[in-house]
Amino acid sequence: MNKDSNIKIYEVGLRDGLQLESKILTVDEKMELFLILQKANVDDMEFGSFVHPKLVPQMANTAEFYRQIQNYKNQENLTALVPNLKGLEMAKEVGVTSVNYVFSASDTHNQQNVRKTTKESIESLEYLSQFASDHNIKLNVTIATSFGCPFEGNIPQERIMNILENLLSYNLNKITLADTTGMANPKQVYQLTKEVITEWKNFNLGCHFHNTRGMGLANILASLESGITTIDASLGGIGGCPFAPGATGNVCTEDVVHMLEEMGVNTSINLDRLIQASHKLAELLGHELPGQVAKAGKSSKLYPIPKSTLI
Ligand code: ZN
Repeated sequence: MNKDSNIKIYEVGLRDGLQLESKILTVDEKMELFLILQKANVDDMEFGSFVHPKLVPQMANTAEFYRQIQNYKNQENLTALVPNLKGLEMAKEVGVTSVNYVFSASDTHNQQNVRKTTKESIESLEYLSQFASDHNIKLNVTIATSFGCPFEGNIPQERIMNILENLLSYNLNKITLADTTGMANPKQVYQLTKEVITEWKNFNLGCHFHNTRGMGLANILASLESGITTIDASLGGIGGCPFAPGATGNVCTEDVVHMLEEMGVNTSINLDRLIQASHKLAELLGHELPGQVAKAGKSSKLYPIPKSTLI
């Protein structure tokens, strides 16, 4: 990574972030956020998911929300999560042209999440990728628990390499390695991402980290050092994983953008507007958010020297 690097941020707050919040945002409230994100040049985002509304009521208005946002930007930059064919069909019905399919590298975590083994989830790609290509839908895949599982522990690098090898035959737009439960450390991240990039140079590979144990930004840096150029992040640092004990906190978008901008790395995002969006999100949710820059302000912000209190 150098000063001229261009890092792409994939905003997941409207999906991964909001799905764990007890307050369910209306379409109008989501629109308010979307419009500020739009002004902040947040281009690429996961805006919702097509899952059963009883399971994730926060996402029940995804179709309606999409109808409102689809004309604001290149539709390929608006991605919806789909857990199965039914979800993919629902996404297609409303005209979504980019979807993300998630499964876990760990069998136990995958069973908890979607009641399938990892192998079974990969086999589903047979008909999912067929359906996607028949309808001109870009298919992305996220491999959850790529860096560790709260039930199985360490996930050997070899297992991830095998999974990736199995994915090669499908026409995938992007593959994201996710640290769903915040177990990764920077050394491990560097080693795995470096190996993947060396093995498959033309892979469009992204990373998704959680700040559960305070290593989120360090892990992002480690992945960028090995050549990753797409990073997932969530406005305000909201979100987590409902199937992993204590696993809260996606890496916060404004904290990531701030770090990169301070290092002279371009993200194309307007940080001031992004911080505004984070404040709006806190207001809509009615609680303080984990992100730090939105509270402390940018490090370039200067303060008046206080009057001496010694006299
Ligand atoms: Zn996440």
